[in-house]
Amino acid sequence: KAAGRNRAVLYHDQMDQQLQTQHWIEGELRKALKADGQLSVAYQPLVAASSQQTVGAEALVRWTHPTLGRVSPARFIPVAETSGLIEELGTFVLRQACKMGVRHQGKRIAVNISPTQLRNPAFPQALFSVLRETGMSPENLELEITESILLDDEKTANSALTAFREKGIRIALDDFGTGYSSLNYLKRYPVDRIKIDQSFVRQLNEGHASVAIVQALVSLAHAMNMDVTAEGVETSEQARILTQLRCNTLQGYLFSHPIDEAEISAWFAEPEY
Ligand code: C2E
Ligand code: CA
Ligand code: CA
Ligand code: CA
Repeated sequence: KAAGRNRAVLYHDQMDQQLQTQHWIEGELRKALKADGQLSVAYQPLVAASSQQTVGAEALVRWTHPTLGRVSPARFIPVAETSGLIEELGTFVLRQACKMGVRHQGKRIAVNISPTQLRNPAFPQALFSVLRETGMSPENLELEITESILLDDEKTANSALTAFREKGIRIALDDFGTGYSSLNYLKRYPVDRIKIDQSFVRQLNEGHASVAIVQALVSLAHAMNMDVTAEGVETSEQARILTQLRCNTLQGYLFSHPIDEAEISAWFAEPEY
């Protein structure tokens, strides 16, 4: 019983610490949004499987804290979401990405949109005003959304996605295949592309079940007039299999890590892998 209580106390302490850390990160992130230079956007090339041409890039937020150094988005995005900072952070990324994209007409720029952003009925207007302000063409913008977004507020999400598509903006379902009702989303929401999750790509070997799964996902997507991107491509063997399975676009360390704005500009001009 005593041991049980000790465990409970320990658990409590850990929760306490976790809460304090969360709170601290939130404060630091708030400062970072005001300060200059801590937050930036990195871009990872999107490569056409058939031609190996760079067709665009995914924007990924980066945070370099003055004492902690690099903080992973996996760490601070959840905090931004629960603290209400995600809207400001999301707008920062969107604006940066559009300013970059406008200088590379014809390249597709993909931006991650968090559930909280999409749930906000004011979001579409905010996004359109960033497009107007930067001069970014809607046809070159793609929004990456995750399945969980759509679960809790179907109506708001659906009307936002419809408004985006009417302007020519494209919608991609991120981390596809990891949610429990992936297939339901395909019939319910207007989607242009699925991004097959890294977990399937990592296991791609001749004879592995992942090959059959990816093959089925590609057939399904193509039958519904959707494109397919495979993410987390690290080896040329994976790229070969994914190309053979008719994935449209590949993304991963094999081609490039996420790189800064100057590097992606050079990359768009002349990819070097
Ligand atoms: P995600 O959208 O699924 O992004 C892909 C993640 O995989 C990125 O991690 C990317 O750097 C990493 N990656 C790319 N190629 C490879 C590879 O070949 N192998 C492996 N192992 N990993 C690869 P990152 O940048 O740390 O971002 C993590 C997650 O944080 C993202 O997952 C996304 O959910 C979220 N995130 C990042 N930037 C933003 C943003 O601006 N807004 C929102 N809402 N979320 C963001
Ligand atoms: Ca993404
Ligand atoms: Ca993903
Ligand atoms: Ca993810």
